[in-house]
Amino acid sequence: MIKLYNSLTKKISDFYPINDDGTVKMYSCGPTVYNFPHIGNMRAYLFMDLLRRVLKYNKYKVYGVMNITDVGHLTSDEDEGEDKMEKSAKKENKSVYEIAQFYTDAFLKDLNALNIDLPEKIVKATDHIQEMIDFILQLEKNGFTYKISDGIYFDTSKFADYGKLSGMALEEKLAGARVEVNAEKRNPTDFALWKFVDENHIMKWASPFGVGCPGWHIECSAMGTKYLGEHFDIHTGGIDHLPVHHENEIAQNNCALGHKVVERWLHCEFLQIDGGKMSKSLGNVYTLNDLSEKGFSPLDFRYFTLQTSYRKKQNFTFVAIESSKTALSRLRTLVNSNKDVKRKLTSDEIAKLTNFSIAFTDAINDDLNSPLALGVLWDMLKEMPKSEDVYALAIRFDEVLGLDLDKDFNDDESLEIPNEIVELAKARLEARKAKDFAKADELRNQIESQGYKVLDTKDGFEISKL
Ligand code: AMP
Ligand code: ZN
Repeated sequence: MIKLYNSLTKKISDFYPINDDGTVKMYSCGPTVYNFPHIGNMRAYLFMDLLRRVLKYNKYKVYGVMNITDVGHLTSDEDEGEDKMEKSAKKENKSVYEIAQFYTDAFLKDLNALNIDLPEKIVKATDHIQEMIDFILQLEKNGFTYKISDGIYFDTSKFADYGKLSGMALEEKLAGARVEVNAEKRNPTDFALWKFVDENHIMKWASPFGVGCPGWHIECSAMGTKYLGEHFDIHTGGIDHLPVHHENEIAQNNCALGHKVVERWLHCEFLQIDGGKMSKSLGNVYTLNDLSEKGFSPLDFRYFTLQTSYRKKQNFTFVAIESSKTALSRLRTLVNSNKDVKRKLTSDEIAKLTNFSIAFTDAINDDLNSPLALGVLWDMLKEMPKSEDVYALAIRFDEVLGLDLDKDFNDDESLEIPNEIVELAKARLEARKAKDFAKADELRNQIESQGYKVLDTKDGFEISKL
């Protein structure tokens, strides 16, 4: 039984799919494609991937939908400010459509590099303008909209449950809202469903309300219900989506359709860098490409993210990713050292192996406890005798972990020995020269614990993989 947290009820509960056929329907908020995605974004999609893999490990079929926001919604959740897509197009001297395609490709390339199991349907907002208009018309018919000079707005005061997701009553939300920029709105929390745009705006569509473009929140309501129906299992996103984007999506869904649409909301906490927020001004917004230039593979980053539960903030540092890289390399070496080892396990050993298998499933089914699941794998590799059965189970665990554990990259002669290991070997040589054999032995242990072996030669030493 999978247990998952629900941001709406704020409780962990047993997961059952709505449909009897065991297909889980899931919607994931995708990126706005005006820039290269950074590793924080990737944490959110790695979380979506982990959830998909855990569902599949439990023999559910998954039908996932993800949107690509290629309409230039405006810079803040509140639909004010500049259009990100058009700003980027101007800067790069490209059309908005070229910008959208370029960054969509870059995004998908990163997902592939991270072994992310892609949603079955990836859909563009610009292909669904009519569905969004229809959704707004339904809201209008049900009496939840009003028109002001710059667009059609949703009246949040008419939805009694507004604020339930973020756990704030409307009054509290209103009190906390920043100084209102749009004095025409009835309530500060009201949001645009359709924005009128001026002639110069590149992306614009005709509608019964006037020429304009859709608000961001209506995208996900329209596309989610189009592909997954009026009642579906799971909706995911980053934690920043919870207080506004998803609150608004719930309001739109319930008020257009008259009932709840999403059964369970799951949100991934933020990735921080060096203990703080990523920001362009601090120069700490890294992409996968930046990591690879520094010698870290996408799967090193994947391993790094698995070490923290998706519901906790995770702190990225280069020291931490270095140790993830070392650990992953060692893990692969250990897994592969079991390959083709024809050893018949005793009945006690088989029982032990079965317990590891159960412990792994229990961990991932406990609200996707990936750090615990990784720990089970390490314990299994340390405690079990080498055998092809251990290898087979590790590879089965990798259906969830997605770390390419079947590939022994360490076989590759061209693979470089990390500097850190070379430095340890040098220090060990110095210790031997100084006849400090205790220190030399300690350094050898350190080297071996990271998956390398040091051999003394007449000229110094040689390092190889364990
Ligand atoms: P955006 O393209 O800005 O809508 O972001 C794409 C996804 O990345 C959303 O699900 C965000 O919630 C998520 N996201 C943005 N920054 C971070 C971060 N630092 N850590 C984790 N997820 C993030
Ligand atoms: Zn969304």
